[in-house]
Amino acid sequence: MRLLLIEDNARLAELIREGLTRQGFAVDWCDTIQDVEHVQRIIDYDLLLLDLGLPDGDGLDLVRATRRRLDTISILILTARGGLDDRVTGLDAGADDYLCKPFQIPELVSRCRALLRRPGLALGTVLGAGNVLLNSAERTLVVDEKSVEATPREVDLLEHLLRNVGRVVAKSALENALYSFRDEVTPNALEASVSRLRKRLGAASADIQIRTVHGVGYALFEPR
Ligand code: CA
Repeated sequence: MRLLLIEDNARLAELIREGLTRQGFAVDWCDTIQDVEHVQRIIDYDLLLLDLGLPDGDGLDLVRATRRRLDTISILILTARGGLDDRVTGLDAGADDYLCKPFQIPELVSRCRALLRRPGLALGTVLGAGNVLLNSAERTLVVDEKSVEATPREVDLLEHLLRNVGRVVAKSALENALYSFRDEVTPNALEASVSRLRKRLGAASADIQIRTVHGVGYALFEPR
């Protein structure tokens, strides 16, 4: 899942970015509204996390503008303005949730997960194909009724393929979803992740297949 964090306090932004990255989210960070408008033109984010007091404007205007353009994106406001009126204004502007500063990173992580499993974005919490089941909220993988360890990135990759069973998912779409701008993505980083995921699934006797479509991307197939 790819997240965009908009926060002008660099120290706080770094803490949030670290906490979420450790949980397997790909996080990009902007500190001005102008930057946000630029990256939103390039990347389709799953979730926006934003502070309201920004150097070049009010975050609420950004919430309204984002809502006008993209209705499936989730928006979580992070702010010190914690009064009831402020929360109502934020939600009315189109935010999905509100977290008051100061907050603990584990709470932020669970709010993000809750937002990302809402209908519209999520097809359901448990995704399955063949003897493979992935719980997209708990980020757990079960193969042939046995739990299988996988890295957050491998779970993310598998989730994208499971949401598109039988269809080719473009390499660029997977890279955009799995890596932030800050990740140093080598040309074969995705291939390496796919290869590790295949090995893991193979070792667990999974009966699904991840096929390479040369020059295009990858597709997951169920057993016949
Ligand atoms: Ca601020």
